[in-house]
Amino acid sequence: MISGAEILDKLRTGYDLTPQPDESRGSAPAELFDVRPLGAAPGSEPLGTVGAIASVTMPFCGSCDRVRLTADGMIRNCLFAAGETDLRTPLREGASDDELAALLRASITAKLPGHGINQPDFLQPPRPMSAIGG
Ligand code: SF4
Repeated sequence: MISGAEILDKLRTGYDLTPQPDESRGSAPAELFDVRPLGAAPGSEPLGTVGAIASVTMPFCGSCDRVRLTADGMIRNCLFAAGETDLRTPLREGASDDELAALLRASITAKLPGHGINQPDFLQPPRPMSAIGG
């Protein structure tokens, strides 16, 4: 594994990287930096923007507001969640909007504070990320 810090350190050998304000990130996975030539004035026009998505070494789960509805009607409240909430079956059995909303709410409420990838007891979900569309 190459850590987020290592990636940024390598980039900084060739460019000045200025972090964009935290508030502009919101719940986005990428930490964005303005890229300038080494030694350029801080306020000068950047060459562009680079984003680092360092989900393991610089996790951003605390601000994550995403859930995934899979093509087969399951709610995953985290890409690494081991469990899924079945919405398709109740929908096909005639569940009301309120009942479906309650299932969705329960799934989101059960979202863990982080992915736990760094924990020794972490287990890949039975359906990995690639099986639910990335
Ligand atoms: S690992 Fe889960 S909680 Fe963390 S950002 Fe990704 S989807 Fe959100």
